[in-house]
Amino acid sequence: MKILVCVKVVKGELNPFDESALECALQLSDDVTVVSMGPKSSESALKPLTRLGAKVVLISDNCFAGSDTLATSYILSTAIKGMEYDLILCGRQSIDGDTAQVGPMLSQMLGIPLITNALKIEVNDDSVFAATRLGDESVKLPALVALERGYVLRFPSIFSKVGEVKILDNEALGCDLQKCGLTGSPTKVLETFENERGRRKCRFILMDELLPLIDELIKQNNVESQKTYDGTKFKSVWAVGEEVYEKAKEIAEEVILIEKSDPQTIYEKAIAEKPDVILWNADFWGRKNAPIVAAMLNTGLCADCTALETDGKNLIMYRPAQGGNITAKIKCVTKPQMATVRTKSDSSDIIISGGKGVADSIDKLYELAEKLGAEIGASRGLVDMNRMPYDKQIGLTGKTVSPKIYIAVGISGAIHHTCAVEGSTTVIAINPDKDARIFDYADYGIVERF
Ligand SMILES: Cc1cc2nc3c(=O)[nH]c(=O)nc-3n(C[C@H](O)[C@H](O)[C@H](O)COP(=O)(O)OP(=O)(O)OC[C@H]3O[C@@H](n4cnc5c(N)ncnc54)[C@H](O)[C@@H]3O)c2cc1C
Repeated sequence: MKILVCVKVVKGELNPFDESALECALQLSDDVTVVSMGPKSSESALKPLTRLGAKVVLISDNCFAGSDTLATSYILSTAIKGMEYDLILCGRQSIDGDTAQVGPMLSQMLGIPLITNALKIEVNDDSVFAATRLGDESVKLPALVALERGYVLRFPSIFSKVGEVKILDNEALGCDLQKCGLTGSPTKVLETFENERGRRKCRFILMDELLPLIDELIKQNNVESQKTYDGTKFKSVWAVGEEVYEKAKEIAEEVILIEKSDPQTIYEKAIAEKPDVILWNADFWGRKNAPIVAAMLNTGLCADCTALETDGKNLIMYRPAQGGNITAKIKCVTKPQMATVRTKSDSSDIIISGGKGVADSIDKLYELAEKLGAEIGASRGLVDMNRMPYDKQIGLTGKTVSPKIYIAVGISGAIHHTCAVEGSTTVIAINPDKDARIFDYADYGIVERF
């Protein structure tokens, strides 16, 4: 069986989700080709993969630079159309862009079935079976599967030899230049700036004052709710699924609720009715299907937006970027303008979340949660250590929450976490590091070990 594995090199290293996809491929077949699009400098990170027995192809040309997910998927699909394959594996997402859009867009452009969020897969003569975060799925080959970090990439044998990386430029591929690079990218980053959203003035207290403070906050209860956008609006926007209705209402006079049906149905409706804007919830379903519809409509899609604005014509989308404390302001120059957006997914009054700092004291965290009648949450740091299940993860790639009281214990406060708790009425942070970023996003801080 011929397997292609699409990988991205991020800061000189293989994207971890793609490592998982590659290991999966190596377990299934000894005919594996790694396909990567990137600058020539990626070659040094890709070359060692030849020692695992994989053939490696690097798609690289200056005219591909600056490609967004739609343009990247187009270039990859053009290259892959000239290759033989039974199965294509991708990582769920890259850890820098974090859009999870290339896999679904690529499957659409190649016209093959798709499975996302796969944890483990098996293949028989003509089908691929996957255990996914949403249950078991199976589709006919050829197919594309986007994998979670379920596999750990093996080390090469000490006897293995380094092979060559085959480089393909646009002379070899013949891509339409209007669809490549910055020219071919409908989503444009207008500016990036230090993330100020969600910043709070922190008052430091002692651990002994925590429970009385919470009692007081519960009694007050008449606290201000989350501030939402209230500027100029579109006449109407589409909201795919009820989850995104409230967010759509912030930017539109009229929200047209679209049923969460298959991509073809939504595509045909969009072609017939030509909406200006289509919003999707950034959950598993939205993250899988919005990129497919975007590829069908040949329009841009901005992933995981935390805030939206408009001047009545253009949709301005904000999302965390560059894996750090930066927010990118993005506009889409094609129609319909599409975004997956973070929505409130929890209604608990009190949430107490643990981070890597409580990995050794999780029992204490549960005790406090029980005492307060609080729901438990977690940072990705703790989830990645397998100390909490993924469905507890709060953050950019987890849930967005807006409880009355959010207590972050042993969490450093990366933007990927704080962006999902901005709607909380009161944030309390417990961390022995007085310089931890979380304190800039908390109303109360306790500088102590938990
Ligand atoms: C694309 C992308 C998406 C991401 N999505 C998410 C997401 O959805 N959610 C998320 O949370 N992260 C996400 N992350 C990861 C995020 O950037 C951080 O790496 C992660 O939040 C760190 O987890 P942490 O705060 O638990 O661990 P750390 O950053 O390691 O912090 C642990 C903290 O515990 C403190 N500590 C140590 N001992 C104690 C003690 N005894 N008591 C109290 N505190 C103690 C330390 O001082 C430290 O501040 C994402 C990252 C990327 C690149």
